[in-house]
Amino acid sequence: MSKNNFVANKGAAMLQCKCPRCQSGNLFVTKATDLSSFMKMHETCPICNLRFEIEPGFFWGAMYVSYALTTGLMLVTLGILWLGFHDPEFWIYVVSIIGVVFITLPWVFRYSRMFMLYLFSPLRFDKNYTKTN
Ligand SMILES: [Zn+2]
Repeated sequence: MSKNNFVANKGAAMLQCKCPRCQSGNLFVTKATDLSSFMKMHETCPICNLRFEIEPGFFWGAMYVSYALTTGLMLVTLGILWLGFHDPEFWIYVVSIIGVVFITLPWVFRYSRMFMLYLFSPLRFDKNYTKTN
């Protein structure tokens, strides 16, 4: 994920955290698994120079997206425990849900921002900005 390569498909570009305009440049400086710096974003796209924070406080909205994602993850975990493990003891629910929320934190953080950029901003893919090598 450290290379800046064009991703033709919008879904794949989101999944790989690429710039919404050129779908070539990376949004984030490091990998999601770099726990000390998974939040670090490029201020502008390394390929097309787009400023990612399109207006001051734009990414505050990502908080609501992350609420939704986290709630979804909690419900899925609950469902898996309920159905797959035959309704275990209460503490197992608590520990599992806290564990899942902690482990997925870097991805929830990143994909909330991706959803904000791709779905709730006027930015659209423009092939004039791509770098295809
Ligand atoms: Zn770009």
